[in-house]
Amino acid sequence: MRIQLDIKPLDSWLEIKKFPPVISGPCSAETEEQVMQTAMKLSKIPNVRIFRSGIWKPRTRPGMFQGIGEEGLKWLKSVREETGLLSAVEVANPKHVEAALKNEVDILWIGARTTVNPFSMEELAGVLKGVDIPVMIKNPVNPDLNLWIGALERFNQAGINRLAAVHRGFYFFDKTPYRNAPMWEIPIELKRLIPNMPVICDPSHICGERELLKGVAQKALDLEMDGLMIESHIDPDHAWTDPEQQVTPEDLEKLIHSLVVRDQKGNIDFETKLEGLRTEIDKIDAELIHILTRRMELIDEIGTYKLDHNITILQLKRWQNIVQDRLKSGIASGLKKDFLLKLLEIVHNESIQRQTDIYSRRNGKKNPLK
Ligand code: PEP
Ligand code: MN
Repeated sequence: MRIQLDIKPLDSWLEIKKFPPVISGPCSAETEEQVMQTAMKLSKIPNVRIFRSGIWKPRTRPGMFQGIGEEGLKWLKSVREETGLLSAVEVANPKHVEAALKNEVDILWIGARTTVNPFSMEELAGVLKGVDIPVMIKNPVNPDLNLWIGALERFNQAGINRLAAVHRGFYFFDKTPYRNAPMWEIPIELKRLIPNMPVICDPSHICGERELLKGVAQKALDLEMDGLMIESHIDPDHAWTDPEQQVTPEDLEKLIHSLVVRDQKGNIDFETKLEGLRTEIDKIDAELIHILTRRMELIDEIGTYKLDHNITILQLKRWQNIVQDRLKSGIASGLKKDFLLKLLEIVHNESIQRQTDIYSRRNGKKNPLK
């Protein structure tokens, strides 16, 4: 089922005629000099017409740099006056909105740690009622498409129709090469449900390190994302926040030039579908491994308990019940009996092996099953 939102196309407000449009600037505004120098260089890149910069930074622990605050908004005004770039800042509460509007910020964005909270979304959409300003909404930290959609709906209902979604990756329990797992199937599903919603990819916060940026940016274009948000800094290694993922304006320009812009729609649709299915498989496999690990941890706990209470490892009756029960539910959900029997046997053998290991370790003997 499609969701109908009243949204203006991205090119009616992003002011970037070259594809892909790129929003760039430092993770955080640090000093007036750093902001101005970065902006000057970025303004020479035709794809970049919007200057992003964090003024209030959500930090994991107190005592870290929490952003320069309102003072930085003045620097953004100078950026516009001197370079013509529009400004974009993250807002997380009504006070931020008030200060940003007072200082004529052009575009607001909602950070991933704020999108997770429907109370915050309600409150921020409330203060923006009747204000005509573009808003970009980052995906929530957790992979919950409905939370993201809910945030977009709340702002749209408050009358914001220059709206875009920003895909910045998701928290994932397992290790991935990325700081935030891209889970491409989520923005793809967002596009399927709300086809007129512009989706901008933020490779910086997906990757967490600059070497991975190009691959993710290219993939975003291959999946028909509408633009990119990439962090840049005049001296990335010494940035006060997110130093590993920022690039110099020069490297950003090289990156943009290296991207291949494709236009064969048919193929892209096919790749999009395939990509969606493959990422789903990757996620499920990671879950399978996680679940098997958890099962073996429980087996170890049972093994230790049995040993402490002098109970035999193999309890035939219990095993027969397990096989019967798992076959019944597995066959009912469409799996073959043969496959289920093989799978159960492998898992059972490994479980017995682990418990025997525990017995041997306690008795100082070698496992006779090995
Ligand atoms: C940022 O854009 O600097 C930021 C804090 O991003 P996110 O909300 O995606 O973590
Ligand atoms: Mn950042």
